[in-house]
Amino acid sequence: MLEIQHEKLDNNSMRVPFVDLKAQYQDIKDEIDSNIQRIISHTAFIGGKEVEDFSINFQAKYGVKHCIPVGNGTDSLFIIMKMLGIGHGDEVITPANSWISSSETITQTGATPVFADIEEHYFTISPVKIEELITEKTKAIMPVHLYGQMCDMDKINHIAQKYNLFIIEDCAQSHFSKYNGKNAGLFGNAGSFSFYPGKNLGAYGDAGAIITNNDELAQKCKMYARHGALKKHEHKIEGINSRLDGIQAAVLNVKLNYITQWTNQRIANASLYNKYLSDIPEVVIPKVRENTEHTFHLYVIRAKRRNELSIFLKENGIQTVLHYPKILPNLEAYSYLNNRDDFEIANSYESQILSLPMYPELNEKQIEFVSERIRDFYKK
Ligand SMILES: *Cc1c(COP(=O)(O)O)cnc(C)c1O
Repeated sequence: MLEIQHEKLDNNSMRVPFVDLKAQYQDIKDEIDSNIQRIISHTAFIGGKEVEDFSINFQAKYGVKHCIPVGNGTDSLFIIMKMLGIGHGDEVITPANSWISSSETITQTGATPVFADIEEHYFTISPVKIEELITEKTKAIMPVHLYGQMCDMDKINHIAQKYNLFIIEDCAQSHFSKYNGKNAGLFGNAGSFSFYPGKNLGAYGDAGAIITNNDELAQKCKMYARHGALKKHEHKIEGINSRLDGIQAAVLNVKLNYITQWTNQRIANASLYNKYLSDIPEVVIPKVRENTEHTFHLYVIRAKRRNELSIFLKENGIQTVLHYPKILPNLEAYSYLNNRDDFEIANSYESQILSLPMYPELNEKQIEFVSERIRDFYKK
């Protein structure tokens, strides 16, 4: 839930929401309003110029050959895998710690999700575990650049080449994150994006996209997402209906001009948190992988007495969230799986993680306030 809380209480206490989409809207209101108004007056609700423009703008900004806008960041994962031919009898390896879209779309294709533990410190899938989990049924690896942190793509690419596996990157939390200077989503066969409102690049409803440099895969994905037809009424196959709508594209086209600025503000805010929190022994601040740019969709600490801390912060007007309260293999939905890993790290982090307020408009006073309350908690 994206709850928005604004009002200031007094000088010593303030409310710090987890995200503040209203603050961002206020900054770009005129542009957003006029773009949405134009869509309505042109009744360009589905398809149309704004959607095509978004596709072209995103390709240019991202440095990729194809961007196929779709309905959301779950469909995009499903469509990519389906069009790569992944299905019944296949296995796809994905991390134990992610949002359920990563694994439920594997099941949706008919394949079986195989969960791998995460790496210490980085919260991303462990390349060592990936290699241990490979069988003759393994068809693909789905790395998730969780919280904005890049996975170890050199090692993952090496494994994929060695065993001839596809790579589908889940970039729902990592728009413009970089590994050796290259953007997330450009390492595998395709990248999957969500533009859910709270994501780093967020629409005003559901939205998503697929990126790839592969012409054939791009055509297939586009066709599948549009009822199996690239031209109206010429259905080459049966597909699904997964479209980005005009109003969402209109919002995204405005926001795309600000994404670099907003990303830099997130990174700066993460540095401020690091500065204020680094000397609290009960708190482990997020570690950024070398030669990468972490875009801090989420700022996740590991904290002693996490549950008590989150209640204390709530009492002090600070909203925190858990990403995620249960790792995927521990969800009831996956009780049927015979997991081949024990998820030692993911399991041990489950009770320690805490996502602190993070958004571009967050200011230093707020970050200091959050940090000081955390310090107070451990002095009690
Ligand atoms: C948000 C998210 C998705 C799904 O995106 P939707 O647009 O909500 O369908 C997939 N994977 C991860 C890691 C996400 O955070």
